Amino acid sequence: MPCMNIDRCPIPLDEGVGPIYQKRYCQDNWDGCARWAVFSTLGPAQVPKWLRPNMGVEAEQIIVRAGQQDDEPA
Ligand code: SF4
Repeated sequence: MPCMNIDRCPIPLDEGVGPIYQKRYCQDNWDGCARWAVFSTLGPAQVPKWLRPNMGVEAEQIIVRAGQQDDEPA
């Protein structure tokens, strides 16, 4: 089953590496995608355009940073 974001995510549409990422992640390995990790944890507005599916470390940092900001007193 393909990723639920496949129609609105810019990565599979990328004319360069898009087909490679689509085959490797979007079609049936979306739970291993860094963009999916941020999307599913923080929501679509928090997924940076530059984040590629194989950037798991960066995705983790985005998620951790968002959690730390939530913990800061208002
Ligand atoms: S790049 Fe990731 S979030 Fe975007 S469609 Fe593919 S699997 Fe889904």
